[in-house]
Amino acid sequence: MIKTRKAIEEFPQYQIPGESRKEYLRLDFSENTVGCSPKVIDALRTISTKDLSIYPEYSRINKKIADFLGVGLKNVLLTNGSDDAIRLLFEAYLEEGDEILLMEPSFDMFEFYAKLRNAKIKKVLLNDDLTFPDQRFIDAISEKTKTIVLCNPNNPTGTVIKRETIINVLEKSDGIVLVDEAYYDFLNESVINLTQEYENLAVARTFSKAYGLAGLRSGVIASSKEIISSLSKISSPFAVNSAAVIGLGAAIEDKDYTEEYVAEIEKSKKYVLNELKKTGIMTYPTAANFFVAEFGNDVDSVCDEFRKRGILIRNRNTKSLLKGCARISFGTLEQSITFISALKDILAADEKSVQIKTDAILFDMDGVLIDVSKSYRTAIKMTAEIFLKKFGIIRDFSDDDIQSIKEKSDTGNDWIASKELIKKSLNRKEIKKTLKNETNENILTGDPKKSNIVRIFQELYLGSRTFEERYNLRPEMDVSGLIDNENLAVTKETLKAANKKYPLAIVTSRPRYEARYALDYFRIKEFFQTVIAMEDMPLGKSQGIRIALKRLGKDNGVYLGDSVSDMATACAAGDMQAIGIIPPGTEDKEKLSTLLYDNGAVNVLDDINEILNIIDR
Ligand SMILES: *Cc1c(COP(=O)(O)O)cnc(C)c1O
Repeated sequence: MIKTRKAIEEFPQYQIPGESRKEYLRLDFSENTVGCSPKVIDALRTISTKDLSIYPEYSRINKKIADFLGVGLKNVLLTNGSDDAIRLLFEAYLEEGDEILLMEPSFDMFEFYAKLRNAKIKKVLLNDDLTFPDQRFIDAISEKTKTIVLCNPNNPTGTVIKRETIINVLEKSDGIVLVDEAYYDFLNESVINLTQEYENLAVARTFSKAYGLAGLRSGVIASSKEIISSLSKISSPFAVNSAAVIGLGAAIEDKDYTEEYVAEIEKSKKYVLNELKKTGIMTYPTAANFFVAEFGNDVDSVCDEFRKRGILIRNRNTKSLLKGCARISFGTLEQSITFISALKDILAADEKSVQIKTDAILFDMDGVLIDVSKSYRTAIKMTAEIFLKKFGIIRDFSDDDIQSIKEKSDTGNDWIASKELIKKSLNRKEIKKTLKNETNENILTGDPKKSNIVRIFQELYLGSRTFEERYNLRPEMDVSGLIDNENLAVTKETLKAANKKYPLAIVTSRPRYEARYALDYFRIKEFFQTVIAMEDMPLGKSQGIRIALKRLGKDNGVYLGDSVSDMATACAAGDMQAIGIIPPGTEDKEKLSTLLYDNGAVNVLDDINEILNIIDR
């Protein structure tokens, strides 16, 4: 059997970026979005058979690069992309188990090559606002630190590290300090000149980004003679191919081309960040040709939607501090306009997708139009307690008890909810005792007598008068029923605006009198074209909803309800969509919302007054 080194066997496969990217606007890998200087192509066209048949020669290009970087010939090494420079440096200076200090999040390859060396990786998290944690980073350096990597500006965050901080790092550590300046051209600040002063400093540059030569694979590392000499020893002798040597020579000579590109990116950056600000999407300051945008939970679908529109961006959701974020390159101004218009299109489509089409709005009353948290719910609780007390059973039901009964009860009827609450709280012995005393007709099913429950409930709810008496009184007069604790949950403005666009109806399990009373009391009767109450729908709410639609002369509508049974009965009523409303006073909104969705709600609102934001004719 062939045996790989243990470290390699356990090594995860590096995920190479997807292919077939040519047809897209590529804002995903921080490359130059228009490609290299045409002079590079011209130079590559001159390649002769000889150029390809002999091994590459480097003396001319080395001289050019040294001049270009402003360092001595012995202070540079051309590499097969700067990836290669990173690998060489770690190979030369990191022993197994040595500690390497990285910033996090940063360019994946640092960790990748450090792992390949079996190094001990220590990471310093950026600040929450993605700025560089100067002091924390310095504090993390110890005698054990053998190598330090700083990426400036940092990929993927665009974070800048101050020159002063880099000097402090160099002052504190004798280990190798690699500063990766892959995006130098966009920041225009370098520490290459510090390599003369600090022999442990190495600076890597690439021609893959601003220069548009990612496909040629060329990078360079600048450092002290000592370090460069070690790296040269272990570098494969012809790591950089002849085409790269020729192309690179032309690229370096065409300084104007890169400068113009950088200037164009600068304009784009202003435009893009300003447009994003208007949309409310959060971005972070950046010194590179890319930026981080926060899309939250939608980030996966946003990336997909961009792809569908021919644009690639890089999802960075799984990176530390970048949950919900994507990294996006700035292209030319023209490309940025394309990007922004796609973004607006995606955001608009997203908004439309929640728009519910309807011809009519049907409302449940309790918990939807009217806040009954201190009336019906209290009535259920007290009815059950009073009923049980008659038999010497003392109970104190909590809001949660009521909520769970309301969730389970397959009707919106609160008399039945009271009965269920009583039944649920009794054990077998207690059932016998209570029901025997009550001479209940349903002793076998264990149902307490409904008429008794209704009587207690109505007394509590309406106060000391009968309903007919009450109805003839002015509401201001104190008749001390729980009904007096009710408030309007919907505003009149909402009803008025809704009724301008749609016919409105009420379908409620309230008895007719109680429904009418509330409409009169709150003076909202005028907004509803029809009211279906308990007596109108002996078969239940589905029937009531069908009757209401018929009376309105509409084939479809939305029903706004606050309970599981509302959602289910509305869905069963025909061409209806159910919208859940979280009733005032709900403790666990999250839980109820999930329940409503699970039972067919197309949307759930915390506040009924938002209804017109989500429906559309
Ligand atoms: C893209 C990138 C590199 C890799 O460049 P190549 O020269 O293509 O290998 C190195 N470092 C950082 C920070 C990069 O973003």
